Amino acid sequence: RAKDAGGGTYATYHPSMHDALASRIELATDLRLALERDEFVVHYQPNVDLRTGEITGFEALVRWNHPTRGMVPPLEFIGVAESTGLIVPLGRWVLTEACRQAVAWNRPLKMAVNVSVRQFEDDDLTGMVAAVLTETGMPPQQLCLEMTESVLLTDTDENLSRILGLKALGVLLAMDDFGTGYSSLAYLRRFPMDVLKIDRSFVDRLGGETEDEALVRTIVRLGQRFGMSTVAEGIENETQLAVLQEMGCDTAQGYLLSRPVPAADATALLERNTPFPLPAGSLAS
Ligand code: C2E
Ligand code: MG
Ligand code: MG
Ligand code: MG
Repeated sequence: RAKDAGGGTYATYHPSMHDALASRIELATDLRLALERDEFVVHYQPNVDLRTGEITGFEALVRWNHPTRGMVPPLEFIGVAESTGLIVPLGRWVLTEACRQAVAWNRPLKMAVNVSVRQFEDDDLTGMVAAVLTETGMPPQQLCLEMTESVLLTDTDENLSRILGLKALGVLLAMDDFGTGYSSLAYLRRFPMDVLKIDRSFVDRLGGETEDEALVRTIVRLGQRFGMSTVAEGIENETQLAVLQEMGCDTAQGYLLSRPVPAADATALLERNTPFPLPAGSLAS
């Protein structure tokens, strides 16, 4: 409508588009500076054994501790970090930080770190992970790399060799947000995944809608059948916890147990040395 309004108004022809682009460019610059200024922090969310209530490990989740905006969640900047390529150095920073923390805890815990498709497509992902393991002294079998199904979608042969390269380092691989992507079950045979993370959207609807319950039960069985452990994400209430426990899902993660917390709070959770109370009690004998 800029034309109708007469001359001098072209700048506002697509105001929202322009603003969105301008703010993305600004965000890209800010993110680069934030990495230099060390403004990112990693929070840790416990994974809890559904048989014993014990903490089996943590997922590392990045946040941007912005000088004026406060703690910015990843969904507000990961997309731009991916499209600008900043996710590569940022991802390396997160991995290093998480491995250092795991080594400092000095317990047999798993540390899960998210790897985006953009990082996965970087030729040197395996070399980078190997370097961080050496630098930090992290035992590879304690590191679990979480990737989404989209990683498996393109150029399967190249991706398969990348996956095998990572596996050769001795690290674990998890399929994150399982059930939301387009991967066929055949991929699960082809790609040596160690962990299936059942997406929050399915966990959300547990304890009512029987179809979702059947779906989650199927994923848990699939995991058992293929020798993959199952983690349910986004547990917010006791009902979900009880249903998952009854299904034989291995591990639980969600606000009900703990939100992602700063390293010091995660350390306090570990030092408490008390299992989380489970609806059906401890199933461990
Ligand atoms: P994700 O890997 O699926 O991580 C789980 C997300 O669910 C986290 O959000 C976590 O805080 C949230 N969550 C956990 N329990 C609950 C619950 O009970 N209820 C609800 N509503 N949410 C729950 P967060 O930290 O905001 O991270 C969002 C996404 O950003 C992550 O999803 C992951 O895809 C991405 N991300 C986070 N950190 C990194 C990173 O270091 N690198 C990369 N590449 N991506 C990251
Ligand atoms: Mg994840
Ligand atoms: Mg997830
Ligand atoms: Mg998710």
